[in-house]
Amino acid sequence: MMNEKIKHAIGQYNEELVTIRRKLHSEPELSWEEYNTSAFVSQYLDQLGIENRKTNPTGVIGEIKGGKPGKTIALRADMDALSVEELNIDLPYASKTKGKMHACGHDAHTAMLLIAAKALNDIKAELPGNVRLIFQPAEEVATGAKEMVKQGAVEGVDNVFGIHIWSQMPTKKVSCSPGPSFASADIFTVRFKGRGGHGAIPQDCIDAAIVASSFVMNVQSVVSRTIDPQKPAVLTIGKMTVGTRFNVIAENAVIEGTVRCFDSEIRDHIENQLRVYAEQVAAVYGASAEVDYVRGTQAVINGEESAHLVQDVAVSAFGEEVLYHEKPTMGGEDFSFYLDEVPGCFALVGSGNAEKDTQWAHHHGRFNLDEDAMVTGAELYAQYAWSFLNK
Ligand SMILES: [Zn+2]
Ligand SMILES: [Zn+2]
Repeated sequence: MMNEKIKHAIGQYNEELVTIRRKLHSEPELSWEEYNTSAFVSQYLDQLGIENRKTNPTGVIGEIKGGKPGKTIALRADMDALSVEELNIDLPYASKTKGKMHACGHDAHTAMLLIAAKALNDIKAELPGNVRLIFQPAEEVATGAKEMVKQGAVEGVDNVFGIHIWSQMPTKKVSCSPGPSFASADIFTVRFKGRGGHGAIPQDCIDAAIVASSFVMNVQSVVSRTIDPQKPAVLTIGKMTVGTRFNVIAENAVIEGTVRCFDSEIRDHIENQLRVYAEQVAAVYGASAEVDYVRGTQAVINGEESAHLVQDVAVSAFGEEVLYHEKPTMGGEDFSFYLDEVPGCFALVGSGNAEKDTQWAHHHGRFNLDEDAMVTGAELYAQYAWSFLNK
C-alpha cells in the first residue's frame, strides 16, 4: 500500500519543503497573476528533468513518465494568494507585498506537490504508469480549474487527487470521506428598480428600499420552507445597496448574495425560486426586478473507491490514529471541475496547532500553518499516486 522509498525521500526533503513554502509565502500573487510562482514551479520541474508545459496564462502541467506501462494519476495543487493584509508581521517570511497574502495555504500545496514530484521522480523507473502534476492558478475565484481542464489537464487521466491544508483540524490528521466534501458556491445579484422622489411624497413613488427589504425577508422561506431539512442549503444576502439620501425615496436597490448546497436539484430549485421571489415581490409594489445568477464551483463529491484508498494509504503510511472525519463544509473548492471529468477525491490535512497559533481561520490575516503538516501532505500526494498506480 505504501512505498518505503517515498517515505524516506520525503523525510529527507523536509527542509527543502519548508524553504520552498516560505519563499512562496513571502511572494504571494493573486488569482490569474501567478507569473513568478508558475515560472518557479516550471524551473523546479525542469531541474528535476520532469517534462512540463505552461498553460495560458499562469498554470503548469508536468508529467512523470513511469518506467512501466499503466494508468495515469493526476495530482493537483493550487497556487494563488488572496487580497488579505498579512497580520503575522513578526514572521521572517511574511508577505513582502502589502495587501496580498497566502491566507489559504496554497503556498503549502504548491511546495508539497513539488516535493512529492521529486520523490516520485526518484522512483520513476518502478512506477507502473504516469503521474500528471497540475499546478493550478486562480482557485480563489473559482475559475482556474475550469481553465486547466479546458487546456488538457485531465486528458488521458484515470483518477485525480487533491489536498487542502486545513487549519480547523488538528495538525497532521487526514480526512477524506466518500460523498460531499465542499458545497457548490454561486453568486447572485438582484436589481430592483422603483421610482424615486421626495421623501415626504411617498404616494408618487415606488420605494426600492421597501421592495428590497421585503425580498430579503421573504426569500428566507426558500430554504426554511421549500427544502428537505435533511439536505443542507444556505442562502446568504451579504450586501444591500439602496438609496442616496435620508430624505429621498430610493429608486434603485441592489442585493448581492451567495447560495451553497450539495445537491444539484436543490441548486436549480434555489436559483429558480430567487427569480420567482424577485419578480413577484417587485410586482406587488409595481417595481421591476432583474436577477443575475452566476454559477461558481460545483459541489466536491468524493468518489467512494478513491476516498477509501486515501484512508488506506493514510493508515499504512502514518498509522490508524491519523484518520479524522471532518464534516462537509459549505465553503467552495473548484477541484469539483476535475471530478466532473474523472473519478477521484479531495483530502484535508490538518494544520491547526494552538501551541503554534495556527488555528486561525482560512482567509484571516493571522492565518498560518503548522509546517509539520506539510510533510504529511507531500507524502500523502506521493503515496496515493503510488498506490493508485499499483492497484
Ligand atoms: Zn481559500
Ligand atoms: Zn484554498
